[in-house]
Amino acid sequence: MGKTFDIGLDRLTGAGVPAIETTAGGGLKPPLQEAGTFYLETFGCQMNEHDSEKVAGVLLARGYRQVETPEAAKVILYNTCSIREKAAQKVFSRLGELRPSTVDSRQATAREGERGFNTEDAEEGHRGHGDASVDQNGMRVAAGAQPGMAVPQGGMLNTRKLVNAAGGKIIGVLGCVAQQEGEEIFERAPWVSLVCGSASYRKLPQLIAELEAGNRRVTGLDTDTEETFETEITRRDNPFRAYLTIIEGCDKACSYCVVPFTRGPERSRASASILDEVRQLAEMGYSEVQLLGQTVNSYADPSGRKMRFSELLVAVAEVPGIRRVRFTTSHPRDFGKDIVEAIEAYPAICDHVHLPVQSGSTAVLRAMARTYTRQEYLEKIALVKAARRAISITTDIIVGFPGETEKDFAETLSLMEEVQYDGAFCFKYSPRPNTPSLTMEDALPEEEKSRRLAILLDRQREIQRAKNEKLIGVVLEVLVDGKSRKPGQWSGHTSSNRVLNFSSQAENILGDYVQVRVVSATPNSLVGEMVKSGQR
Ligand code: SAM
Ligand code: SF4
Repeated sequence: MGKTFDIGLDRLTGAGVPAIETTAGGGLKPPLQEAGTFYLETFGCQMNEHDSEKVAGVLLARGYRQVETPEAAKVILYNTCSIREKAAQKVFSRLGELRPSTVDSRQATAREGERGFNTEDAEEGHRGHGDASVDQNGMRVAAGAQPGMAVPQGGMLNTRKLVNAAGGKIIGVLGCVAQQEGEEIFERAPWVSLVCGSASYRKLPQLIAELEAGNRRVTGLDTDTEETFETEITRRDNPFRAYLTIIEGCDKACSYCVVPFTRGPERSRASASILDEVRQLAEMGYSEVQLLGQTVNSYADPSGRKMRFSELLVAVAEVPGIRRVRFTTSHPRDFGKDIVEAIEAYPAICDHVHLPVQSGSTAVLRAMARTYTRQEYLEKIALVKAARRAISITTDIIVGFPGETEKDFAETLSLMEEVQYDGAFCFKYSPRPNTPSLTMEDALPEEEKSRRLAILLDRQREIQRAKNEKLIGVVLEVLVDGKSRKPGQWSGHTSSNRVLNFSSQAENILGDYVQVRVVSATPNSLVGEMVKSGQR
């Protein structure tokens, strides 16, 4: 066995231990008394998941303790996603579950009717006819989901119990829906008292203190901040892969996308601060880190070092103890040969690039304001495919953008055929507030979008099946991150981010890097048997 693998999860989850504070020197000390309890549920992408880790860190550092249920919490927070309509609806459906009995139900119903605030619709949308994706992790992801989307922690609430106990609770909406809807949330759900966008999370303890001091409603909605959301501590949920945001916001202006409105302008974090955090993570026992940003490769080091993104990748890969470096999401316009060269030169940089194309038609790409043509995108793909080691490529695709013709759609299918993606997240176009595409003509009917989505998913599934079957017989290195209830059954991720379920009679291999021979394959995962144990 290698070094011990202690990431201080107990301490950072706040479960069953006193809440913590930082000292002036950055160390941790127990607070004099607990400030309160909070429940935090997350919707949306990996960036939201990681923002929640930081929100939890900010609150834990101020003496709050995290609890598992809204019923047990003094502060209930929803970190929200508004990338597609169904995702935003889901949040209002959750808020509906928290409606206190004192709110005039006729008033609330009238408001809900105006804005389609309807629990059943949102639930149906989430489970049923929405977007879906085939990703390497074996998921057909339901409406509103994105790469890396997690199942909300809370499950269904006991509404009656919560409503009866609701007096004195602080209910807050964070993230993209907060930024997008702003104070209107107070109109739609008057029992909410805190609304805070992602650029203002650092102010959360202050906002909560204002509410406790008697303010009825507080907001943190600035986006014109230079700040990146760096925290003294981050409560980490994944014991095997640590996430770091290196760039916040987005300066691109894709015509369908709310992110520039909800997350504000691009702000990159200084390279020295990123590398400090990576070193700390390595000391805690993490060997895999994932750099995050809406356009991660548009990173522009604000410090005098002026590190390029590819140089940062290399510097992270060189930190002692780091064995895997991932990054997502790359924007095709800023994707260059230097990134491929860094991957080639450093085995620690994982052989996986997520490069969203959105459409295979240059006309649609132009309408989307994606800033590249089909041909230019394919040139970037050619760079990746020319690498000395195989690099897996995944993508995002939107079908049914306004004005997308049958011919445009056929071009998306042909691009998919040409690239042979290892995974694809496919979405039906969803009109979003404030975005230029909202007023574009020639909107497609939902049924047509669904039809195109189904065709795309079926084709992608077959491509994945064929690609995964080619791996049968190959030995791959896996970071073991899961143990089945069935004895001797484990799972892990390959460098290319494939899920590999395997058998081994070894004990206690969670967190180890082991060699596994692939024996069978499905479109979404691989099955194998361990041939060599490894080390942490
Ligand atoms: N910044 C990344 C990029 O440029 O590719 C993507 C970030 S976005 C959170 C994730 C994906 O959601 C996008 O790649 C796009 O496919 C999808 N998406 C964004 N807005 C959408 C909309 N209005 N309707 C449907 N899908 C959308
Ligand atoms: Fe949205 Fe485009 Fe920015 Fe990606 S690059 S976050 S799709 S605006």
